[in-house]
Amino acid sequence: MTGEGTSPPVPVLSAAGISKTYRTRDGRSVGLHDATLTIHPGEHIALLGPNGSGKSTLLALASTALPPNAGSLTIAGTEITTRTPRASLAAARSKIGVAFQSPALDPLLTIDENLRTAAALARAPRSRAAELLETFTLADRARDRVAALSGGLKRRADLARALLAEPALLILDEPTTGLDPDARRDFLDALDRLRHASPAPAVLLSTHLTDEAERADRVVFLADGRIAADDAPDALRSRIGRTAVTTEDDSPATQDALAALGLEPRPLPGGRLVAPLTGNHAEHAGRVASALTAAGVSFSIGPPTLGDAYAAIVGRGLDSAPDASSNDGGPPA
Ligand code: ADP
Ligand code: MG
Repeated sequence: MTGEGTSPPVPVLSAAGISKTYRTRDGRSVGLHDATLTIHPGEHIALLGPNGSGKSTLLALASTALPPNAGSLTIAGTEITTRTPRASLAAARSKIGVAFQSPALDPLLTIDENLRTAAALARAPRSRAAELLETFTLADRARDRVAALSGGLKRRADLARALLAEPALLILDEPTTGLDPDARRDFLDALDRLRHASPAPAVLLSTHLTDEAERADRVVFLADGRIAADDAPDALRSRIGRTAVTTEDDSPATQDALAALGLEPRPLPGGRLVAPLTGNHAEHAGRVASALTAAGVSFSIGPPTLGDAYAAIVGRGLDSAPDASSNDGGPPA
């Protein structure tokens, strides 16, 4: 920290009420509606939502691939509109690194050749590529052709490519799709290591997997093109309660058994119930468990999951299909 006084750091991205409506053959389709989001330097943000919830649209706006139809979007100090001069747009883009689902690497070149080509385009120093190969433990594969690499190595190499120009913001759209569990963990660990880089880029990624979102500093719940919540993972879970009883069964018998203990069950999608344990109940969770077992209820007890928090806040689970009815027409662009 240099003694710059108390002025807060300039956000790498600040979006106020941004919307994107797509024109389709039979009218329009709302990709994103009235989204407000601020990303500070070095923050890791996960967009969590099911298919069709607007994650890719928000990432396309954040990467300046699409301008918003409404609202204001500022990236690294540049306001992005349809009228942003090309030079300013290019300046903003130079601060953003993007990796989408299919790696932007030439499969016929080696990792090293890919990175050298990209470094030349980005005017990055040669040492930068070597540094990134180390960070992502790719150094001993640098001379392998990309076509011959596993999916996990390809994604890591693409991540190194996206970071060559030292972006202030790294944007990743469902980066672990199609990876096996080990490769997925390696990729996410590599992302976590970026927190120690200097300067550390902010990371904005989309996922429909709660364990991936758990690693972020803040999780943005998206549903039907709207931001339903934006908070730290723990804070989102604690909106249900620190500890809760969850059942797979919302029968009257189960509801009665919970009510008899003074618990207040709330419905979750899929016929489930969640009852937060507060005060006395939280301190004596063991007694609650014994009483429910005696009443023949099958349940689990513990901290709520991020998936349960999503369901409780949005009113629909992460595995639910998009709500088609909410996507007709929509507000004028
Ligand atoms: P996600 O990435 O969460 O799956 P998207 O941002 O791709 O969500 O989609 C959000 C909504 O916008 C969906 O209803 C989708 O059908 C619509 N949409 C996305 N891209 C287009 C497009 N190019 N043209 C028309 N509609 C689109
Ligand atoms: Mg998507």
